Amino acid sequence: CFSSLEDVPLDPHYALKEDFAADPVTTKVILGSGIYRDEHGMPWVLPTPNHLQAEELVKASEDSSRYDYLPISGYEPFYTAARKLLFGPIAIPKDRFVSIQTIAGTGANSLGARFLSQSLRPSAVWLSNPSWINHANIWMTVGVNVKFYPYWNAHKKALDFEDMLQTLTTETNPGDVIVLHGCAHNPTGLDPTKDQWEKIADLCERQGLFPFFDCAYQGFASGNLDEDAWALRHFAFRDTLELAVAQSFSKNMGLYGERVGALHFLTASSDAASKVKGHLLRLQRGQISQPAKRGATIATTILTDDTMFTKWLDDLAEMSSRIKEMRKALYEELIFLETPGNWDHLLTQIGMFSYTGLSPMQVSRMRDNHVYILSSGRISVPGLNGTNVKYVAQAIDKAVRT
Ligand code: PMP
Repeated sequence: CFSSLEDVPLDPHYALKEDFAADPVTTKVILGSGIYRDEHGMPWVLPTPNHLQAEELVKASEDSSRYDYLPISGYEPFYTAARKLLFGPIAIPKDRFVSIQTIAGTGANSLGARFLSQSLRPSAVWLSNPSWINHANIWMTVGVNVKFYPYWNAHKKALDFEDMLQTLTTETNPGDVIVLHGCAHNPTGLDPTKDQWEKIADLCERQGLFPFFDCAYQGFASGNLDEDAWALRHFAFRDTLELAVAQSFSKNMGLYGERVGALHFLTASSDAASKVKGHLLRLQRGQISQPAKRGATIATTILTDDTMFTKWLDDLAEMSSRIKEMRKALYEELIFLETPGNWDHLLTQIGMFSYTGLSPMQVSRMRDNHVYILSSGRISVPGLNGTNVKYVAQAIDKAVRT
C-alpha cells in the first residue's frame, strides 16, 4: 500500500557522506556537515572544560535517581542556565519567559514550528534564501507555506539587504513567522550588521511578523558569547516584540550526538507565558514525553561552574580562531594559485561555513578531484587543515579554470 508514495531523496548532507565513503581515494576530503574538526581532521572532545571531568562531576553529584525520567519540560537547571546564556542580564520579568529542553537545535526548531503553526496559523513562514537545509523541511512537515526572502546576492557575494526589506515589506502578512539566524548564518557565513538588525526589528514591528531566532552557533561567529547574542538581545530589549529562540549546544560545546538544546519564548505577559508553556508541554508530551538527561547535565555543569565556564570560553576561542586561520589559509592558497575570481568573501564571512560562490557544475568538477562539498558551494571550514588546504585550493582552482 506504500508503493504509490513519491520517492524522497536522501538529505544532501547524508547523500554527500555516502558518496564520500564510497570513494576509494585516500587523499579525498569532505567539507560537508557543520562539525568541528581539529587540525588532524578528528572530532574534538573539548579538553577544557573536559567533558569527562564534567561527566565525573555529574556522576558524583547524582544519587540513585540518575536514570529517572526528567519532567516533560526537561532539566530545569539546564534550560534556566541556557536562557541566561542567550539573553544575558536582561531586565525583563522572568515570568514572561518560557523555556523547555529539546532534542538539540533541530528539536527546538521543530517544536517551535509545530506550536507556531497551530497558535499563529501564519499564512507563511519566511526563510532566508538560502537557509539551513532543514528549515524548509521542518516547516513543510507542519503544513506551513514556506517562502523565502532574498538574502545572498550571488553576484556581489554579499547580503541582499535592500531586496530583503523590500520583499518582507510588500509580501508578508501580519502573523507570519520570520526565521532569523542569531549569528554565523548557515550556509552563507554572512550576518546583518547591527544597524541592519535594527531595521529588521523595525520591520517585524511594522509588519506584525513573529521573529523566530535560530541560535546554533553562539560563540562561533565572533568567539564572544555576548556579542553573538547581540541581535537577539536587541529584539528582546526593545520589549515591543514577542519572539522565540531555538538554541543548540551541539557545536559550541561539541555535544553533537548528545542532542542538547532548548526552545525559549519571550511573551508579552505572564498570562501568555503560562498558556504557551501549557501548549509546549502538551506537544512535547505527545512527541517525546521528556528529553534526555545526560547531555543536559553535562552542559549545565559547564554553564554553572565558574571554573569550567571560563575554560569553555578558551575552547570557543580556540575553535573560532582555528576556523579564521583556515579561512585565511584557503584564501592565501587561492591567491598564490592566481585562481580566477575574487575570494575576499572567504575572509569576511564568519562562523563555520563559507559560501564559496562555486556553481553546481564547479562543485561536481571538484568531486572529480575527490573534494566533496554541497552543490550549493558551501564548505564547512573546520574540515580544512594544514594537510588538506593546498589540495582543496588546487581542486577549486581546477574547477574554476575548466
Ligand atoms: N540550526 C542551524 C542553523 C544549524 O546549522 C543546525 C545544525 N546544522 C541546527 C539548527 C541544528 O543542530 P542540532 O540539531 O545538531 O543541534
